[in-house]
Amino acid sequence: MNPQKGNPKAAIVYCLDPDIDEAVGSFLDSQGLHAGTFTRHPIQGGPLNIRDVEKSLGFVINYLGVRTIWLIGHVICRAMELELGKNDDDAHAQCLRGARSWCHQRFPSDVGVRAILMRSCEPNQKEQWRFDRLTYTGYVTIIRI
Ligand SMILES: [Zn+2]
Repeated sequence: MNPQKGNPKAAIVYCLDPDIDEAVGSFLDSQGLHAGTFTRHPIQGGPLNIRDVEKSLGFVINYLGVRTIWLIGHVICRAMELELGKNDDDAHAQCLRGARSWCHQRFPSDVGVRAILMRSCEPNQKEQWRFDRLTYTGYVTIIRI
């Protein structure tokens, strides 16, 4: 019996772009978030459209006990390009900040929010995760694949 069944630790808000599925899965695994320990909230643009997953986030927070929301943006995001006409680091940082602020306002104060930007890296760095701080945002940037 899985003692964690029914008690997910985290809610993951990420872009539904299938190009990042594997990277998101690997990243979550590296953070100890294995299948059955988190809930998925894919939406085009991920954090950009977090309001569209408000109902499902509210459900997992208020009824399943989730206490951490991960906001995962990714570079070369077609939804960001389409909706904002820009796709640079500043646009992502602004989007992540906005989504984080919205979560803090919308959900109980004991719900933590972690925001990251997933970025490409060279093939020889595959499977390595590097964490850099963007000085102008304070958010973690993940460089991968
Ligand atoms: Zn995307």
